[in-house]
Amino acid sequence: MVHIVGAGPGDPELLTLKGRRLLSEADVVIYAGSLVNEELLKFCKPEAEIYNSVQMMFEEVLHIITLAEKAGKTTVRLHTGDPSIYGATQEQMDAMTARGIEFDVTPGVSSFLAAAAALKQEYTLPGITQTVIITRRGGRTPVPDTESLKKLAQHQTTLCIFLSINLLDEIKRDLMSAGFKSSTPVAVVYKASWPGEEKVIRGRLDTIVKQVKGANIDRTALIIIGHCLNSEKESYQMSNLYSPKFSHMFRQARY
Ligand code: SAH
Repeated sequence: MVHIVGAGPGDPELLTLKGRRLLSEADVVIYAGSLVNEELLKFCKPEAEIYNSVQMMFEEVLHIITLAEKAGKTTVRLHTGDPSIYGATQEQMDAMTARGIEFDVTPGVSSFLAAAAALKQEYTLPGITQTVIITRRGGRTPVPDTESLKKLAQHQTTLCIFLSINLLDEIKRDLMSAGFKSSTPVAVVYKASWPGEEKVIRGRLDTIVKQVKGANIDRTALIIIGHCLNSEKESYQMSNLYSPKFSHMFRQARY
């Protein structure tokens, strides 16, 4: 049996209880060492076989899993954040299905959520935006034309941009040509939730490139853009959820 487990964004306490139990029971653990906090490995049994997949090819990972299956062992495949976002997990799941290997998936706290916590920010403010777009900028890995940043930015939603901190200059140009003003607030969150390592940089489209260069951030960072980050919070409306004028399933309006 193979368990694909979301490791969470970095803070070991943000691993789910289920993920922790599965890790503590696993005979074999394969973790994505470039991003998973190795502190999580302290939850493994002392005799567990532990592999870092960072220098492995797809076939090698599959080989370790297949050997473990033949020996009747339990494997945890530990992926950073949540496995459903930029995890390269689909090809592993499809290969396991093709080989008749049983597996399940345990979700994790994605880094874009840890970034919101670091920023103490709600991404969906009534009257400002009710949509969050998770994307990356096309670089070595292409993004379909219909999803270019220029097109997505036209919606003026909150944007959470993964895997693209080295393309910040291009992102700035794309967004400005899509109609975002140079004063649009931007935040970069580096190593969100990692104890002692998290960095938050707040700026504007026209300042952020310089600020990030000055902070020496070149990986493990998310770029958050959108009007929700406006420090004055000028024009957002209070949510209806707690409004006295609004009835819902659990509460009657008071007037
Ligand atoms: N599945 C992961 C994303 C993997 S892709 C998730 O759900 O978070 C790797 C990218 O995720 C990095 O390039 C960076 O953009 C982002 N990332 C992962 N962990 C992060 C963290 N703790 N802080 C900020 N960005 C992070």
